[in-house]
Amino acid sequence: MSTPPLDLVLVSTPIGHLGSGRGGGVELTLTSLLRGLAARGHRITLVAPEGSVAPDDCPGLLLHTAGGNDQPSWQHAQRAASVQIPCDGVLPHLWDLALSLGEDADAVINFSYDWLPLWLTPHAKSSLFHLVSMGSVSRAMDEVISQLARWDQRRMSFHTQRQASDFSLTSPPSIVGNGFDLTRYQLQLNLHGPLGWAGRIAPEKGLEDAAAVAAALGETLLVWGLVEDAGYAQSVEAAVPPGTLDWRGFQPTHRLQQELGCCRALLNTPKWNEAYGNVVVEAMACGVPVVAYDRGGPGELIQDGVTGWLVPPDDLEALTMASRKVDQIDRQACRRWVEQNASHTVFAQRVEAWIRQGLSAGNGTLAPCR
Ligand code: UDP
Repeated sequence: MSTPPLDLVLVSTPIGHLGSGRGGGVELTLTSLLRGLAARGHRITLVAPEGSVAPDDCPGLLLHTAGGNDQPSWQHAQRAASVQIPCDGVLPHLWDLALSLGEDADAVINFSYDWLPLWLTPHAKSSLFHLVSMGSVSRAMDEVISQLARWDQRRMSFHTQRQASDFSLTSPPSIVGNGFDLTRYQLQLNLHGPLGWAGRIAPEKGLEDAAAVAAALGETLLVWGLVEDAGYAQSVEAAVPPGTLDWRGFQPTHRLQQELGCCRALLNTPKWNEAYGNVVVEAMACGVPVVAYDRGGPGELIQDGVTGWLVPPDDLEALTMASRKVDQIDRQACRRWVEQNASHTVFAQRVEAWIRQGLSAGNGTLAPCR
């Protein structure tokens, strides 16, 4: 590397420990990025809730953990809800650590979708950066994001253009996409497997629509993911003939990719403006075409007719018809797209470029930050 390595502090989500699955896609995003940045020679400190497991293949990675109560997640709050931080909350404990470790670092990168770290940014001695992990779900978050954009928008980056378009920004946003360690995903060429669906089992993920398609086709749908809302899971099950859903539980990546790779297609049916859609790209990494609503991140990640089919949001008939023609998609093209656009190597390069840009003074040199 011609430029000197950076000292970076990465701060995990305060919803569940890393490895619990409760943090959703952020957990895998962070793990991939740790690997990608470590491979580029950066010195990395990870700040995460107690019980977190850091990847063992990041030489020199330092892990600092904080205890305390989980932060409630914004996606299940009312849009007008006020900011809440529970007593003995893990979020402020994580930021006590991050701010103090950040004083000796070049930058602190936040992965949580929370008001506190965004608000702190103009007031902190350390240079704080935020990879915003969701679209707009709350007025308080929209407001703090647009305030930070007015102060210095370079401190924020987004996964997709569609996600960023939810917010009031002052200039074209930095988009870093996402990245996956592709040595962990095997291309499978079987064209005749079942249909699959993966994600948190929660209303914003729209499992009921994929279940309806499987029922219309008289097929079984394989479902992977953490049941976040048991009542919702039961209502989805009750709406389709018995046996339509085959619940496979929450699987670690090595199992998930093995089972997912056997599918002839993944159905992706978000009801919200999905920021990215990790499972879409993980499926494609295994050669699995994706049939999805043209909404949020998946609409930007899937090339219609090349790596899957995009259909108008909430159109069950179009989703069913598209699911019948997944044999027209070349599974190798799916894998190729991921190799070219979403490896953890390219993701780490994009994140590094964003951080260096944000640290630079007007003349392009690194601004003093210690
Ligand atoms: N996931 C997993 N095991 C499972 C099902 C899902 O590890 O059995 C992970 C998957 O790898 C992905 C995350 O759960 O990283 C879901 O992320 P996505 O971006 O699709 O949605 P989010 O939960 O962030 O809204």
